Amino acid sequence: MTNGQHQFGFDTLAIHAGQEPDPRTGAVVPPIYQTSTYAQDGVGQPRLGYEYSRSGNPTRDALQECLAAIEGGRRGMAFASGLAAEDTLLRTVCRPGDHVVIPGDAYGGTYRLFARVAQRWGLEFTPVDLADIDAVRKAITPRTKVIWAETPTNPLLGIADIATLAGVAHDNDALLVVDNTFASPYLQQPLAHGADVVVHSTTKYVGGHSDVVGGALVVGDAALGEELAYHQNAMGAINGPFDAWLTLRGIKTLGVRMERHCDNAERVAEFLLGHPAVSQVLYPGLPEHPGHDVATKQMRRFGGMISFRAAGGEAAAVDICNRAKLFVLGESLGGVESLIEHPGRMTHASAAGSPLEVPADLVRLSVGIETVDDLLADLEQALVR
Ligand SMILES: *Cc1c(COP(=O)(O)O)cnc(C)c1O
Repeated sequence: MTNGQHQFGFDTLAIHAGQEPDPRTGAVVPPIYQTSTYAQDGVGQPRLGYEYSRSGNPTRDALQECLAAIEGGRRGMAFASGLAAEDTLLRTVCRPGDHVVIPGDAYGGTYRLFARVAQRWGLEFTPVDLADIDAVRKAITPRTKVIWAETPTNPLLGIADIATLAGVAHDNDALLVVDNTFASPYLQQPLAHGADVVVHSTTKYVGGHSDVVGGALVVGDAALGEELAYHQNAMGAINGPFDAWLTLRGIKTLGVRMERHCDNAERVAEFLLGHPAVSQVLYPGLPEHPGHDVATKQMRRFGGMISFRAAGGEAAAVDICNRAKLFVLGESLGGVESLIEHPGRMTHASAAGSPLEVPADLVRLSVGIETVDDLLADLEQALVR
């Protein structure tokens, strides 16, 4: 989206891309087209191409166009959830017998999709520490179709070098998929670093208000976009018009929200670093984080997610989660309100006993955009008995 020669910036795209005022009424906000079907002008003559809302809906189209614009992609597709987007992607680009390299600490639900669902249909996978490029190269087989990256990872905040992984993937005729949920397109645009597909759980930062579940795929290649759009319709895991509308509403403030998430997370990380009840702080914004230099290269700032390890072990980690008050004890992340959780027993319980099991003393914070002093005070009382 441009104004003549001038290329619009991120926040302008977030507010305007796909969202021209409604031609009929002038409504500034795209209407919620809560309809399943459309009157046709004649047999086989759908008006503006809309015939059935699984195949196309104007509210979803507005969201899809906006998603493509803010990721710097050619085509965006919106789904019922992040996992619905992932499932559609895998069944579009992989066949039985194919192989995928996945992160050694992928989101628990992504791991479950590979281990408990896709594997039964003949899709093989190997978890690898993506920061170790030699290990990634060694894991590749002649059947590898996809390198699946998450950066930063959930919940260990590991960083993968997108440009380097894209090179390795393309040398082996594979696609690089990046789950960009933790960074959001405001902080990181994987397609610009060579990735082929961006995946989002728009439930998180993109929606940003903990009021809607959704997912997205964004691609730069038109042919791949066509193929995915075909499967989006053929498999049917679309999001509804109201969910699309809520997500679009959230996107308008993504840039300002992310700046505040980052401001607050930097203060929280600093506070945790100096605290005796904390043995380690995992935040890519800290110079001692092993992925700090790569993160600096590919991210605008370092995001609102922080994990830390409790010096007192698992029981202490659980107690901290239970004592927090302003930090709401709950799963999910990326909303305006701060959340705290124990990944081992909550979000990543499905990875227990697998190579992706997370440390038992780990606590994960989704740092919201409240007044930061209130967040620090809450952590202070939760950490000190
Ligand atoms: C939540 C999440 C998902 C799954 O998205 P849903 O919308 O819950 O289906 C995928 N990847 C990451 C990194 C997530 O945090």
